Amino acid sequence: KAVQSERSFKYADLTVRLAGPDQLQPKPDVSALTFGKYFTDHMLKIFYYEALGGWQIPEITPFENLVLHPASKVLHYAIELFEGLKAYRGIDGKIRIFRPELNMERMNNSAMRTGLPTFIGEELIKCCCRLISIDQEWVPHSTASSLYVRPTFIGIDPALGVASSKSALLYVIASPVGSYFKKTNENVGISLLADPRYTRAWPGGCGNYKMGSNYGPTIYVQKEATEKGLQQVLWLYGEDNEVTEVGTMNIFMFFINDDGEKELITPPLTSGLILPGVTRNSILALATEWNEFKVSERKFCMDEVCRLLSENRLLEMFGAGTACTVNPISYIEYAGRPLHIPTMKHSNPIYKILLKHLSDIQYGVISDHPWAIPI
Ligand code: PMP
Repeated sequence: KAVQSERSFKYADLTVRLAGPDQLQPKPDVSALTFGKYFTDHMLKIFYYEALGGWQIPEITPFENLVLHPASKVLHYAIELFEGLKAYRGIDGKIRIFRPELNMERMNNSAMRTGLPTFIGEELIKCCCRLISIDQEWVPHSTASSLYVRPTFIGIDPALGVASSKSALLYVIASPVGSYFKKTNENVGISLLADPRYTRAWPGGCGNYKMGSNYGPTIYVQKEATEKGLQQVLWLYGEDNEVTEVGTMNIFMFFINDDGEKELITPPLTSGLILPGVTRNSILALATEWNEFKVSERKFCMDEVCRLLSENRLLEMFGAGTACTVNPISYIEYAGRPLHIPTMKHSNPIYKILLKHLSDIQYGVISDHPWAIPI
């Protein structure tokens, strides 16, 4: 393979090997889509070998299994990071991706923290667009579904020992997914387990990076939630039970503040506990632009949630992320206490307005929005 550069691979060098007719998979019915079960016919691969000058040429190949040395660093020390973004088929038939430059920025930050090489985000966006375009028939013809695109970056040095990986593989796969909302009852929000015995991130840790190693340890806690009949985990941190994130979403609270004004808050990124979500960033930007209520990024704790609730000042709580956009919260079991959150009790809740606005941008109902990039 031609030697590329230390700095980045380039879209201009991309090679394409298309799947043969016998390798093409049948596309699932839109109504049968769940999350992450089906994959498109092709994938993107970009190797990095320090000994060969760094980044190699990007290639699109038929979707296939990877062959890894059993000592590969990813398999032992979790030298892995990933991203998640979606391609949407708009009401005009055009396919768009949503603010991919933010995913690229986050991916490069995760790579730096993992000791893996960085790259020019724009080059990966162009390679992803080509992959989506080749597999465009996999982008569901539905405004309730989308194609989830998963860039993944792993350290593949065939050697044991906790050290930086001098070889790596960046690959991208894509999966048609249904709406998270279709399956939930329209009138019931999600239920959460908030157990102060567990935490997902801490200052100086990696909660603000999208690394696989942040997610493995959450499975056990998620299982506890499921066994209690609760859907997601509300992640707390510290002695004062700071509210951080919900499942794999950023959290928002809408309430009446001490000055009697309506206010929307989400925890700040400064603590290092919070993943800088693309949806979070978009909601903050939209709500600030609307200027109809106060919008703040600040720390809040479970005591404040309980107090606002008891004073009937808590209006809404919701999670926000790419996979499920905006997800209303109805119930929290906090250290054994039941908290009923009145998110679904309002006639025109802001979570719904935000959800619709984001979806209108993503599916081209609002045309030519700068956040929605045609592929
Ligand atoms: N928090 C965590 C822990 C996540 O895994 C995700 C999903 N990437 C988010 C928040 C939401 O981020 P985004 O809006 O970029 O999907």
